Amino acid sequence: MSSEIRILAGKEKNLLRHHPWVFSGAMDDATTPDSPGICRVVTSEGRFIAWGVYDADSHIQLRLLSWEESVFPDETWWADTIKASVLRRKVFFEEKESPTTAFRIIHGEADMIPGVVADVYGKVIRVIISARVAWNMRQVIVDALEGILHPSLIVLNTDSSFCAIEKLHEVTEYYKGGKRFSPTEQLEEIRIRECGIYYAMVPGSGQKSGFYCDQRENRNRIENYVKGAVVLDGCCYTGGFTMHALRAGAKEVHAFDSSADAIHRLLSNVRMNVEMGKLPEDARERVTATKADIFETLREIPRNLYDVIILDPPKLAQTVKSLDSAKRAYKDLNHMAMEKIRSGGILVTCSCSGALSREDFRTVLAWSAKDARVEAQVLETLGQAQDHPIRLSFPESEYLKVFILRVIR
Ligand code: SAH
Repeated sequence: MSSEIRILAGKEKNLLRHHPWVFSGAMDDATTPDSPGICRVVTSEGRFIAWGVYDADSHIQLRLLSWEESVFPDETWWADTIKASVLRRKVFFEEKESPTTAFRIIHGEADMIPGVVADVYGKVIRVIISARVAWNMRQVIVDALEGILHPSLIVLNTDSSFCAIEKLHEVTEYYKGGKRFSPTEQLEEIRIRECGIYYAMVPGSGQKSGFYCDQRENRNRIENYVKGAVVLDGCCYTGGFTMHALRAGAKEVHAFDSSADAIHRLLSNVRMNVEMGKLPEDARERVTATKADIFETLREIPRNLYDVIILDPPKLAQTVKSLDSAKRAYKDLNHMAMEKIRSGGILVTCSCSGALSREDFRTVLAWSAKDARVEAQVLETLGQAQDHPIRLSFPESEYLKVFILRVIR
């Protein structure tokens, strides 16, 4: 029989509304079990709320999985929930010669699966684990994905930013046909496509999951603003925005990133797309890519050179604790861009810090505009691509905020 955990009076509202996280302060200590496992979670009056998994070693000690009393979250539940998540992305698989072969199939709690993110890159799947409960289920996860998608390879690793707080090791595992193996040589480079543009990547290497498909739709959006423009792509990584700017007829694109490897990959991606006829012949002459810090770059660039500036920095606020210093960094970055951009220019500015709300990011941008002595208009309010859904009961799943602004001096 599974144990029963009581939630303290007044702490159950969010949970009844399907928020999946329960921290230790919300549980009646007398009812927490001695060992990890599935628990029946009830209100202080004993009314059923949900089935959850308790693990005292996790930084979120209790994670709720199923709010139906008749649906017990055993291994079959995991396999079924994973399958359902993949099937919701059916449209990505259906089209033959689809222009996009890189997309997310599991977006963690937003797809009702705690601590698991999975992306498809052509025939390869990348799984990233950020919770103990998911680590313990990894063979079930691998088998479920294997059964539906028959990938050529699954690369599974723990998320290094969660290892300490989840008491997990930094590990990468490789699976073929559902069986674990140790690659004897470096994995081969693969090519993925997004919106008809090709990117080379080595599965399991590079940042995070190797390619950021959450910006897919936003990369398309910027095509409307860049024709004939001089564009700065700050934090360009392997060139997501740069490629679209080149395709849509930007006069010049100056790309910057602090990673030399990213710069190298961007330039070879441009070359590859020109050779494949996906970018115009002259794209190579229109682009420069430089290894540089974006803060220094914005300080040094001349005023009134750029018509469009794109800022897609890494997560500046890792946690709520670092929010204040992150807000200052976002403010400075955008302040400098607003000061340097041409009057009437377009600033595409992003924040992928989940800890910073959309409203707060907007307020930060208003301060940037004030300090830069400009007016700024919001032309478009954008977010993460649809394969990275935001679950209504779990506001934490909204992390990417993008504003397209017109800057007026
Ligand atoms: N826009 C990219 C994704 C950006 S991810 C795309 O469309 O694919 C954030 C990038 O910022 C990473 O490539 C990282 O190397 C880079 N970065 C981190 N700190 C930086 C800094 N201080 N200056 C410039 N780039 C930085």
